[in-house]
Amino acid sequence: MGSLSPENLQALRTLLLQAQGQLEQQMNIGKIAAAVVTLDQTAVGRVSRVDAMQQQSMAVSTREMAAQRLNKVKLALQNLANDKYGLCKRCDEEIALNRLLAQPESNLCLSCQAKLDGQQ
Ligand SMILES: [Zn+2]
Repeated sequence: MGSLSPENLQALRTLLLQAQGQLEQQMNIGKIAAAVVTLDQTAVGRVSRVDAMQQQSMAVSTREMAAQRLNKVKLALQNLANDKYGLCKRCDEEIALNRLLAQPESNLCLSCQAKLDGQQ
């Protein structure tokens, strides 16, 4: 376990649970939006069909992003329960508290994240 105080951990846990709730909601909205477009496709004209497809692909990618983040949030909550939270999965260094507060599902420290972003 890192140097996070029980108060910090409690605050981060709350943030993670909030994020989990919001993301699950986003996933449900995305599911409805994607389904509606599929049902309407035969009834709409050509232009609005293109429109609808664009909206659908946006809904799909929003959902994918929400799903990815949700996985990370769930993993972070698991780590929190197992006293493994707040450590970088690449270099095992503690992740800075400020970073965790801004993005509680982070599993990389700032320098590892920067290296990873540089590769992409
Ligand atoms: Zn690291």
